[in-house]
Amino acid sequence: AQERYTSIRDKPAQSRDGITVSLQMNAGLMADLPSLPSSGADGVGLFRTELQFLVRNQMPKRTELAQTYSTVMDAAEGKRVVFRTLDIGSDKVLPYMAPQDEPNPALGWRAVRVALDKPGVMRMQLQALLRAAKGRPLTVMFPFIAQYDEYRAARAEMDKALEREHILGHAVPEKLEVGAMLETPSLAFAPQQFFEEVDFLSIGGNDLKQFFFAADRENERVRRRYDTLNVSFLTFLEGIVNRCVTTKTPLSFCGEDAGRPIEAVCMAAIGLRYLSMRPASIGPVKSLLRRVHLNEVRDVIIEARERGDQSVRPAVMDYLRTRD
Ligand code: PEP
Ligand code: MG
Repeated sequence: AQERYTSIRDKPAQSRDGITVSLQMNAGLMADLPSLPSSGADGVGLFRTELQFLVRNQMPKRTELAQTYSTVMDAAEGKRVVFRTLDIGSDKVLPYMAPQDEPNPALGWRAVRVALDKPGVMRMQLQALLRAAKGRPLTVMFPFIAQYDEYRAARAEMDKALEREHILGHAVPEKLEVGAMLETPSLAFAPQQFFEEVDFLSIGGNDLKQFFFAADRENERVRRRYDTLNVSFLTFLEGIVNRCVTTKTPLSFCGEDAGRPIEAVCMAAIGLRYLSMRPASIGPVKSLLRRVHLNEVRDVIIEARERGDQSVRPAVMDYLRTRD
């Protein structure tokens, strides 16, 4: 099926009306890396680092992690890789950590909450990332930031790690970007200063949608109950886009929905310009993007909203049929 898309692999993800969207890939295993050149991705928009922690029965060592991250950067050949720091808890439990008996793990002690309360592992990981970069540009983002001070505290850990490397005489990245994942609705309403301070934001749509609709992403009964193209959710995403435009904050979307062509086209139509997805989705998403006028899709979305449609999907599907 992938062969169908090889003819557009080196073509830009550009709509008929000339809007270019950067398509990035999600990765997390060394086995994903060969997909980087073959998928046509512009970079790795989300590298999930927890897999290296999950596949072992003991905590990985800093030198091992640094070696892994360095191999990832080598494979990217200068393309940007966004390393997400350890995102554990909820659905991702480390075999060598005491299990938490939590009534609602998705709302519990997870991700950056664990990292800020017990910073040892995060410090080790940040040091491994800095060592792996060997002076090359480095991009790191923290998962599950729910309010401004969590970003500030996590960033302070990065600044400390950087300072330590400097004192030790190790090379420091020529450019360092530190971002946050927007996975809880609260962060969309953070103060303007947060949007100005953060180097970039990436919407973790899987978690964001789960919390927006209060529908467990792991529960088969409810996980598909609410459409991502529901007008409420799309309007919410558009609000985030608009805030980021005001503060010139680079914004991407890296949940599974970015890899669904109709969803991706709608996100591009409301202003998202960086979408990160599994490598196999890049061809199909690019193919559809190249067929549409994003300004027309935008009008279709606005009309559906004004009509009171629950989801813009039927209207967008009707529009797409006229493009065949
Ligand atoms: C997300 O929540 O959308 C995301 C990209 O992170 P994960 O799926 O790993 O929670
Ligand atoms: Mg998430």
